[in-house]
Amino acid sequence: MGSTTTIKSPAEPVFNQFASDNYAGICPQAWEAMERANHGFSTSYGDDCWTERACECIRELFETDCQVFFVFNGTAANSLALASLCRSYHSVLCHDLAHVETDECGAPEFFSNGTKILHIPGADGKLDLEAVEHAITRRSDIHYPKPRVLSLTQSTEVGTVYSREEIGRAAELAHRYGLRVQMDGARFTNAVASLGVAPAEITWKAGVDVLCLGGAKNGMAVGEAVVFFNGALAEEFEYRCKQAGQLASKMRFISAPWIGLLESGAWLGNAEHANRHARLLADKLADIPGISLMHPCQANSVFVEMPPATAAALRDAGWRFYSFIGSGGARFMCSWQTTEDDVNHLVAAIRQATGR
Ligand SMILES: *Cc1c(COP(=O)(O)O)cnc(C)c1O
Repeated sequence: MGSTTTIKSPAEPVFNQFASDNYAGICPQAWEAMERANHGFSTSYGDDCWTERACECIRELFETDCQVFFVFNGTAANSLALASLCRSYHSVLCHDLAHVETDECGAPEFFSNGTKILHIPGADGKLDLEAVEHAITRRSDIHYPKPRVLSLTQSTEVGTVYSREEIGRAAELAHRYGLRVQMDGARFTNAVASLGVAPAEITWKAGVDVLCLGGAKNGMAVGEAVVFFNGALAEEFEYRCKQAGQLASKMRFISAPWIGLLESGAWLGNAEHANRHARLLADKLADIPGISLMHPCQANSVFVEMPPATAAALRDAGWRFYSFIGSGGARFMCSWQTTEDDVNHLVAAIRQATGR
């Protein structure tokens, strides 16, 4: 006893995978900020200088006096934000492929005590606004769950990006019918990098009421921020977080990495890096006979259609990728950590798997 323990790491992965952007590690800026926060003692539950500064950084980023809450993950951010906008008899309109509909195990319905998710079609992961209007107006009787929120994902689940004008039109439609606008921004930074706009332009200035801003996929270990641009909607939100088990007692280790990402500009650099590598991957895959791109590559994901035998050969060679996300095919994600060598390695493997 008393001797230093050597922690053995489990087997190292053989090569970098593209299954998800959350396969990546913690970026240096987020890591350093956690390290800086790891000295001495600090007050808990968010009542600390790191959390205060992180909120300030987010207000600076959005150039407005928004209200900010930090939670552990995106499912909590989305479902608690939606629950705060709805009553149990309301409904949330989102895309068929939306994470809140397909990947949160019913958490939005659970935390809102029954609010119904209504899903709407649309090409390339984006809501078709005519279909949205139809869903809002087709019934006004007491038997239909009253539409209350329009939820947009930016960037979308299939790696496309809504333009500022598209967000403005969607929000205008929602507000015209008394709906609020929530944005799932698990990959919001990738959209900002793709569009080259100020974050304010594609959020509150375009009509977004609440943004769930992703940190994990941008380079943090864990954590997302719920950003209310309409302060009235944030009333008692801290109680929701606590009740849902989302109030971190050592909050500073979730909030400090935001300071690292935002003060250094790494939030944008990381997103640009990921997008650039996805573009490179898309361009290279487009040249392989038998492989076709399923959606425009506008953020950090590439969806491809490939023959089943190719997909099987690729999996046999040890590659991991999802084929149930989006509308089928195979999804490859790039992150802040993806290198050009990684891209070339995957491209070579796919070429080999196609037998060419
Ligand atoms: C990853 C992701 C989230 C967050 O998911 P968690 O696993 O709950 O952190 C939310 N929305 C989208 C579109 C995502 O891709």
